[in-house]
Amino acid sequence: TTLLELNNVSKKYGSDTLALSDVNFSVKEGEFVSVIGPSGAGKSTLLRCINRMIDATSGEVIFDGVNVQNLNKRELRKTRTKIGMIFQHYNLVNRLSVIENVLHGRLGFKSIITGVLGMYSEAEKKQAIELLTVLGLEDHMYKRCDQLSGGQKQRVGIARALIQSPKMMLCDEPIASLDPNSSKVIMDHLRNISKSMGITVVVNLHQVDVALSYSDRIIGVSKGEVVYNGSPQQITSEE
Ligand code: ADP
Ligand code: ADP
Repeated sequence: TTLLELNNVSKKYGSDTLALSDVNFSVKEGEFVSVIGPSGAGKSTLLRCINRMIDATSGEVIFDGVNVQNLNKRELRKTRTKIGMIFQHYNLVNRLSVIENVLHGRLGFKSIITGVLGMYSEAEKKQAIELLTVLGLEDHMYKRCDQLSGGQKQRVGIARALIQSPKMMLCDEPIASLDPNSSKVIMDHLRNISKSMGITVVVNLHQVDVALSYSDRIIGVSKGEVVYNGSPQQITSEE
């Protein structure tokens, strides 16, 4: 079944930057899709249009059966809980502990941070601990985030996204700031999220080799247009 569908999505910044031009594709439940393309191709704009961090100029984004363009604020908040976001620069609250950052995922994106563990139920804390253990962070749960390495920070970001029980993860250049070893750990976790948990993963990458080895499907973007949509095997054999 289709989870996400983009129909003729275009995005203009100002009057003359056409960042996306009639983008069409769909993504199935549980699928692992990489969006690849050079810097400035429109990858980041594409992900932001999907959860409406920015509004597309025209076209439709259908997620989980609803047109996200038509949602009011309250409905959009509900839809966004089904979409976990992962960023290149982690977007963690450095002065808070790892587990507090994860628990704040429950409040939704851009929540007001108060930093009080007591505001969460025991069940929520147990779930956060379980997720952090799956991600190999059981020994770091009470450290401040600014004491962690980049790879550890990104794993906190993944746990924070997963605690909402999302249907889809949108990852914007999740390994662009990481060394090869940490990148592999993060990509292995994302793969596991798709294949074991059944969560759809859409990930922006500029490393083609990584996209080739992890993805079910690759969407190539250049100058705001989809120029390739197919399996990694097809790409490799065309070269
Ligand atoms: P990518 O993620 O592939 O590097 P982006 O989506 O960041 O590409 O950018 C696509 C194009 O849109 C680029 O030309 C970029 O300069 C432009 N762009 C991105 N964000 C903005 C913005 N907020 N305002 C104006 N232009 C933007
Ligand atoms: P990324 O590394 O994620 O591609 P950038 O460093 O290109 O992001 O951009 C950082 C921020 O600046 C983003 O919010 C993006 O939307 C915005 N931005 C990018 N290009 C432009 C542009 N040409 N004009 C205005 N804002 C831009």
